[in-house]
Amino acid sequence: MREHHSVYLDGTWLPSTSTETIEVLDPARDEVIATVPAGTDEDVDRAVRAAQAALPGWRTTAPARRAAYLEALADQLDAHAEEIARTVTDELGCPVGFSRAVQAGLPRQVARSYAELAATHPFEERIGNSHVFHEPVGVVGAITPWNYPLHQIVAKVAPALAAGCTVVVKPAENTPLVALLLARLVDAAGLPAGVFNLVTGLGPVAGEALARHPGVDLVSFTGSTRVGRHIGALAGGEVKRVALELGGKSANVILPGADLTKAVKIGVANVMANSGQTCSAWTRMLVPAEHHEEAVRLATAAVAKYVPGDPRDETVRVGPVVSHAQRDRVRGYIERGVSEGARLVAGGPQAPEGLDRGCYVRPTLFTDVEPDMVIAQEEIFGPVLSLLRYQDTEDALRIANDSRYGLSGAVWSEDQAEAVAFARRMRTGQVDVNGGRFNPLAPFGGYKQSGVGRELGPHGLAEYLHTQSLQL
Ligand code: NAD
Repeated sequence: MREHHSVYLDGTWLPSTSTETIEVLDPARDEVIATVPAGTDEDVDRAVRAAQAALPGWRTTAPARRAAYLEALADQLDAHAEEIARTVTDELGCPVGFSRAVQAGLPRQVARSYAELAATHPFEERIGNSHVFHEPVGVVGAITPWNYPLHQIVAKVAPALAAGCTVVVKPAENTPLVALLLARLVDAAGLPAGVFNLVTGLGPVAGEALARHPGVDLVSFTGSTRVGRHIGALAGGEVKRVALELGGKSANVILPGADLTKAVKIGVANVMANSGQTCSAWTRMLVPAEHHEEAVRLATAAVAKYVPGDPRDETVRVGPVVSHAQRDRVRGYIERGVSEGARLVAGGPQAPEGLDRGCYVRPTLFTDVEPDMVIAQEEIFGPVLSLLRYQDTEDALRIANDSRYGLSGAVWSEDQAEAVAFARRMRTGQVDVNGGRFNPLAPFGGYKQSGVGRELGPHGLAEYLHTQSLQL
């Protein structure tokens, strides 16, 4: 077991002022693999001061030079991709193949994209007699979750640094190890001291201290709607900028005439990836009533291919969920679905066969789900898919939009124009049309209670900029 004692601030590793530690669990083996400091208010304060001190130098560093630093960081991410993947597999339980492709792969792409944007973005413009400067907002407090632990940090840090902001990161308590690894890589990339700072710690202590700190100009939060609402209120009270990336309950709408086999197969894969711990997962599959039984048959066969197992085994496609608490929460939702009268056709609340140890959940499929059931309304964040039937296209649209969330979604149709027209009526931030692939430059973020603001690409960069207009 590895014991970490330091926080990373002002370009060095310093002992935390805390005597408390956080245990990091390997959820597959159910063993504590490391401890990290439970950072204090004082640690956060020192980190914010370092970020404030570094701001004047960083904001006036030429964008092309900032781009070169981001390139150097992206090179470090490339060179350490396997270590990143293994670390995320250890602390999250994510199958190692998926860790390589997504947990390590996506941050590499995103860091590279911001190196390019820093170099090419027009940070000033003329509007009539005004010269408008796009300036960095200032010090950013980044609070992140555990499900895509490196991506969610890089999706904040890279645009913030590209914009000329300095950053303090408070990573999720379950997955601090990949965050510590990132700090090492930032150090190796030679970024100026204080531009990037990291304090591990508990949400209500270190996270709260960061969100409340008067030296933080923008709080960028990814996590649950419950905590996001609290952080939004804190930021509102201080009149500081806030960006919130929250939960989802996205609809996968299969229109009549669509390729049902393909749509169901990809829909199931979308939910099972990362053990269902994806905020944008299409956890409600909507099928025409006349194709319901066929869809049930196809979905049951597809779910059966996801046999939980050791995430270090290269052939395993679904590992455990992140923690005991998450396992119990997901199993509780499965029990709730049964008691609400949904039909359980695969999975269930018991431990998967032979996996009593570890935080495993059976990949689960419910059919005959009604739109107002709890399992159709609340984010479960586990490998659980609900199949809902609809009568006609208007009914499908009503069910799809009947959610307090609006993060993502999918539409399938044999007619691309029909699918696009349907997607345009969905009240959600992203829709994949006929299997359109993920675009790391497209704006990502939610309608309704899925959040405020956008990440990735030029829209993500804009979150970290504000304007000064000079009238000439
Ligand atoms: P969470 O809200 O419990 O924690 C997220 C972060 O907030 C952690 O770093 C935590 O320590 C911190 N935190 C907790 N309480 C805090 C407080 N009072 N003040 C300041 N910080 C605090 O969420 P989680 O369980 O880590 O992540 C799962 C949730 O995140 C799911 O609901 C999921 O949908 C959502 N999520 C959304 C996106 C997105 O982009 N929209 C991405 C990933 C996860």
